[in-house]
Amino acid sequence: MDLRGTPELSPSARRRLLADLTGAVGRDRVLDRAIDRHSRAHDASHYLLVPLVVVIAESIEEVAAVMAVAAAHHVPVTFRSGGTSLSGQASGAGILVDTRRGFRRIEVLDDGERVRAQAGATLRAVNTRLARHGRALGPDPASEAACTIGGVIANNSSGMAAGIEHNSTRTLESLVAVLPSGTVVDTAAEDSLLHLRRHEPRLVADLERLQDRIRHDPDAVAEIRERFSLKNTMGYSLDAFCEAEGLLQLLNRLLIGSEGTLGFVADAVFRAVPVQPAAATGLLIFDSVDAAARSLPDLVGTGAKALELMDAESLRVARRLPQARPPWTGSRSGTMPRSSWSIGETIPPNWTASSAPLRP
Ligand SMILES: Cc1cc2nc3c(=O)[nH]c(=O)nc-3n(C[C@H](O)[C@H](O)[C@H](O)COP(=O)(O)OP(=O)(O)OC[C@H]3O[C@@H](n4cnc5c(N)ncnc54)[C@H](O)[C@@H]3O)c2cc1C
Repeated sequence: MDLRGTPELSPSARRRLLADLTGAVGRDRVLDRAIDRHSRAHDASHYLLVPLVVVIAESIEEVAAVMAVAAAHHVPVTFRSGGTSLSGQASGAGILVDTRRGFRRIEVLDDGERVRAQAGATLRAVNTRLARHGRALGPDPASEAACTIGGVIANNSSGMAAGIEHNSTRTLESLVAVLPSGTVVDTAAEDSLLHLRRHEPRLVADLERLQDRIRHDPDAVAEIRERFSLKNTMGYSLDAFCEAEGLLQLLNRLLIGSEGTLGFVADAVFRAVPVQPAAATGLLIFDSVDAAARSLPDLVGTGAKALELMDAESLRVARRLPQARPPWTGSRSGTMPRSSWSIGETIPPNWTASSAPLRP
């Protein structure tokens, strides 16, 4: 491998890899032409890793077969779903497994209190199905039109209003995952624990040993708890070792935020959250970012559902939008403010909107 993790395969090794992948998913879903590889080299981040080959997998069995081929050829696998990640998570130099096309099923459960969705379903599609029940998914990344259940779980996505209360960690109930060995586990199924102990004895032993070690180290537990009390998206959920009850819940929690490195999530059951019947937003304008930051405790105290800080650059960009009617045109100096808070709050249904910007 070179420094960027690109596997260097001899022409014959490459031919063998392509032949085995073809055996796993069929020739028409193994894409090794330069145009296919380069067109999927980007995600929404500024990283660029050109995959060796792109594979389109449409079922759990296909994903498991691709993982087995990858392990046999010592080539890394990266899953690509919506591709909206901002830190390069959905780019890889090995086998890029595109899972958007399959895995689209959505099933609303318990009159919308819960929902089962497959990994390739976009958040918008799931929320559209939940809307008639007055519910939505907890995670609310602004990329909801394109991002998918698989990516949301693997990134532990949250969003403006989700915070650490309604993110994937807090709202995911169970999932079906394919582990790197090809073992499929449904964390809600009654016989899963037995199944896991039988097929993954080493994994089970390692997880139990790690959990034991962490739980018996009060300093480690205190540090993990403190760090995870703040908003924390991608990265291994070490807090799972302190909190999870039982092995299946531990596995559930560890897969969240693991960026596809611990296994493939095929489908998941989420607890949906109620949608507020009405909402309003306001804009507070400040002369400096410092002043805006100092006001934060008071603003949080208002109980606003979401607060977003926009610096002068964001405001300049917003001002260029044709539909923007800048609230600062009638301001004291008529100059560009240095910072503002956009406030979202839920309001009673009979409230009448006022569009005037608020001044602190
Ligand atoms: C405009 C914009 C706004 C955004 N706003 C937010 C925000 O408010 N909050 C936030 O948290 N994020 C935000 N994001 C980042 C990103 O959109 C989310 O994290 C999103 O959930 C990623 O989903 P995706 O389907 O695009 O996943 P991808 O980018 O395709 O993949 C994300 C990760 O998940 C892995 N993966 C994908 N599918 C699976 C699977 N089935 N099983 C296992 N691993 C898998 C990939 O390998 C990768 O590591 C934003 C991005 C954009 C472009």
